[in-house]
Amino acid sequence: MDALNLINGQWRASSGRWLAVTNPATDEQLGRVTLSPAADVDQAVLAGQRAFEEWRRIPVTERVQCLFRFKQLLEEHFEEIARTVTQECGKTLVESRGELRRGIENVETACGMPLMMQGYNNEDIARGVDEHLFRQPLGVVAAITPFNFPAMIPLWFLPYAIASGNCFILKPSEQVPLTAVRLFELLAQTGLPAGVAQLVHGDKQTVDALLEHPGVQAISFVGSSTVAKSIYGRAAAQGKRAQCQGGAKNPVVILPDADLEMTTKIVADSAFGCAGQRCLATSVVITVGSEQERFASAICDAAASRRVGNGLESDIDMGPVISSESKRRIERLLEAGRNEGAVARAHGNGRKPSADGCGSFVAPTVLDHVAPGGTLARTEIFGPVLSLLRAASIDEAIHLINSGVHGNMACLFTSSGAAARRFRNECVVGNIGINVGVAAPMSFYPFSGWKESFFGDLHAQGRHAVEFYTQTKVVVERWHSTWSRKF
Ligand code: NAD
Repeated sequence: MDALNLINGQWRASSGRWLAVTNPATDEQLGRVTLSPAADVDQAVLAGQRAFEEWRRIPVTERVQCLFRFKQLLEEHFEEIARTVTQECGKTLVESRGELRRGIENVETACGMPLMMQGYNNEDIARGVDEHLFRQPLGVVAAITPFNFPAMIPLWFLPYAIASGNCFILKPSEQVPLTAVRLFELLAQTGLPAGVAQLVHGDKQTVDALLEHPGVQAISFVGSSTVAKSIYGRAAAQGKRAQCQGGAKNPVVILPDADLEMTTKIVADSAFGCAGQRCLATSVVITVGSEQERFASAICDAAASRRVGNGLESDIDMGPVISSESKRRIERLLEAGRNEGAVARAHGNGRKPSADGCGSFVAPTVLDHVAPGGTLARTEIFGPVLSLLRAASIDEAIHLINSGVHGNMACLFTSSGAAARRFRNECVVGNIGINVGVAAPMSFYPFSGWKESFFGDLHAQGRHAVEFYTQTKVVVERWHSTWSRKF
């Protein structure tokens, strides 16, 4: 299948290059994606600007009707979309269903836009003078998304952007373009006018064109920290609003009073779920006190028993990583960790042997005695690798967390309310989990990364998304009763 652009209501190939789309579990080519040069971006922005004049005037109560229909279509095609996610991204079908459900929840939340984009006002701020605050859409806005949640992450942005009256362009990851095509095929069936939601595939060249186009008012980005930081700076230099979510290195702290069985299961799901390719995956565990050895051996058993294989099969716990390039990168990092003194405690062998040796599979791996300041402890691995660190106290654990450059998530496992309260107060990260391994905010809360995990101030999802996609207009008006005819 060829992944085409949807520009001004027409599906078409760009005038640029093509890239193969590959199933990372089988290495089979699923199709090709068109890579768009600046000319295609220009056409999409112009179509968006034309559509915006009408769309912003359509009452918000009518605009959200398209989202109600979209939600219905997503439900009807749920299994088919989940299969597409698994085929192009590699995660298991259960994980694909989970991400699609979280995406749909954002569509549902954005259906509340009539209430969410309300302003506020005061009567009589001076005699005969009233003041009002209105929220108005920005115009044409764009989102650039990563490979690891092909369905969910575009839906962190799209529903809020269009329901609040903007025209939206998605540039999905070129590694997983097929899910985005299916989302936009369904969206096109909702009665949305041409140009309101457009799909432009591509790579860096396409992103550069979006950043440089004066008609794009705002950029939402999710991806690695280096790219997030660069895009934030470039968007700001062009006078655009930007919200750029970056990478992560998420620590979990386990106190001696934690329920070890439950903790091990939750941490294993967080570290090895989606083959560790979640920005909220646990990548470092810091054990405090007496249970260190018991936890280390329990998590090693959990890693070793994970069944690795093609995510479309029902008895599989973990799929491949996204590409052979990513697999090689992970293997290089493991080597660097071993050179710094880390010891491989478990190297899962649950993979079903494949006759042809195809697929970008990495075994779930636990590395013990990782150097706190070393490469493994600092670098985002984005694969099924868990590093174990030890701390003498919760103070030392919090210090280790706060000395890291990322701030996406930190979790604590304990049965002490006082420890939990302190942890959530003192950790310099944006998402906290207490006895939870993937502290993913619901759609009506912001996805709150901090430090190198986020550049900007208004995050994705919920009220932050509404604020990001609208600008406030304040009106001060005077109406003296003497100016009107007396009734
Ligand atoms: P990536 O940064 O390689 O790519 C993300 C997007 O940016 C893609 O659409 C890609 O085409 C584009 N891109 C890549 N390089 C570019 C460049 N030099 N200039 C302009 N655009 C460029 O990220 P990825 O590998 O697709 O995704 C994995 C990363 O995303 C991880 O670091 C992960 O932690 C992060 N992530 C973060 C969150 C979050 O909420 N903070 C969520 C999911 C993923």
